[in-house]
Amino acid sequence: MSGLRDHLLAQIRDTGPISIAEFMHTCLLHPTMGYYTAKTPFGAGGDFVTAPEISQMFGEMLGLALAQAWTDQGQPAHFTLAELGPGRGTLMADVLRATAGVPGFHAAADIVLYDASPALRAVQAETLAAHAPRWIDTPEDLPQAPLFLLANEFFDALPIRQFQRDGTLWRERQVGARDGALVFGLGPAQPQPALAHRLDDTADGDLVEDRPGAAPILSVIAQRIDTHGGAALIIDYGDWRSLGDTLQAVAGHTSVDPLADPGAADLTAHVDFEALLTACAPTQPGRITPQGVFLERLGITARAQALAQTLSGSRLDNHVAAHRRLTHPSEMGNLFKVLGVVPRSAPMLPGLET
Ligand code: SAH
Repeated sequence: MSGLRDHLLAQIRDTGPISIAEFMHTCLLHPTMGYYTAKTPFGAGGDFVTAPEISQMFGEMLGLALAQAWTDQGQPAHFTLAELGPGRGTLMADVLRATAGVPGFHAAADIVLYDASPALRAVQAETLAAHAPRWIDTPEDLPQAPLFLLANEFFDALPIRQFQRDGTLWRERQVGARDGALVFGLGPAQPQPALAHRLDDTADGDLVEDRPGAAPILSVIAQRIDTHGGAALIIDYGDWRSLGDTLQAVAGHTSVDPLADPGAADLTAHVDFEALLTACAPTQPGRITPQGVFLERLGITARAQALAQTLSGSRLDNHVAAHRRLTHPSEMGNLFKVLGVVPRSAPMLPGLET
C-alpha cells in the first residue's frame, strides 16, 4: 500500500489528471510521504550512489577547481561557498578537506547550503558540523557577494514537464487514473510558445522535456557571479538538448516503473544542458565537458595513484573500481557532463577550457 498513491488518486479524482512535473514534485517532496522527505536514499543500502559517495576524489578535484578559480579572481576576502542539494554533505566535506591547505580560502568562505529535505539537512549539519554551514530556504537568498557554487545531481531532481508534438501543437503528458491505478495519458493539443524553437528539430509524435524550475535558480546564480565574481560547477547526467522520454525511477539500485509505488523510488530526468547554459547568461560558460574528461584533466589519475599507495586488498580493489566508475566512458564518464560558468572577464575554470 502506498499512502502517496491514494493521495494522488484522490487528487486526480477531484481535479483531473496532473502534469509530470506535479507528479514528480509530490513524489519527491510531499511534506510527510515524499521520497526526499521521508527516505534515506543514499549508499549501498539505499537506492542510488552518487559520485561523491563513490570516492573522496570527486570532491577533492571539484574543490581544487573552485579554489583555482578563487585564486584566478584575486582571492576575494569574503565569498559564498554554496551547494545546491548537498545530499549527505559528503561533497562539501571533501571540498573543504581538499582546500584546507589553500591559504585564506576557508577564512574567506561563508558556507551556504540549499536543500528541500529537512531529513537531509540534519545529515548535512552533522557531516559539516566543524564548518558551521548555514541553510537558505530559496536560492534568492544567496548573498550579494562573490559566489563559488557546486551542484551535483541537483537539477535532475527538479520536476520536468513533457510535451508530445502534434502537428504544430503540443499535448502535455500527464498522470491520470484508470481502474484505481495511476496511468500515463496525454492532454489536449495546444500551442506552446516556449517550445517554438523545437518545431525546427522535432517531428510529429516526438516528445520533448522542459524543466521550468531550473532557469529561475540559474539566473540568480548568474546574477551573483556576473556582479560580484565567482564560479559555478554543475554536474549532472544528460545531454545537449532534450529529446524523448527520460523520466526514470530508481529504487534499490534498479530501474522501476515510475507509477508503481509513488514516493518509494527516486525520480529524475536527464538534464538539458543547452537549457541550463542559456539560463546562465550573461556569465561566460565553459565547454560542456564529459565528467571523465574533466576529472582526468584535473589530475584524478595522479591522485588515484597516490591514494593507492596507502591501500591494499579489497580496499585497493574498491578504490580502483571507484576511479573507473567516475571516469570510464562506459560508466559515469560520458553520461555525466560538467557545466562551468565564470564572469565574462575571468579565466575559465580548469578542465573546462574551450
Ligand atoms: N548532491 C548530492 C545529492 C544528490 S540527490 C550528491 O551528489 O550525493 C538530490 C539532492 O537535492 C538531495 O539532497 C535532495 O534533498 C535535494 N533536492 C531535490 N529536489 C530539490 C528541490 N526541488 N529543491 C531543493 N533541494 C532539492
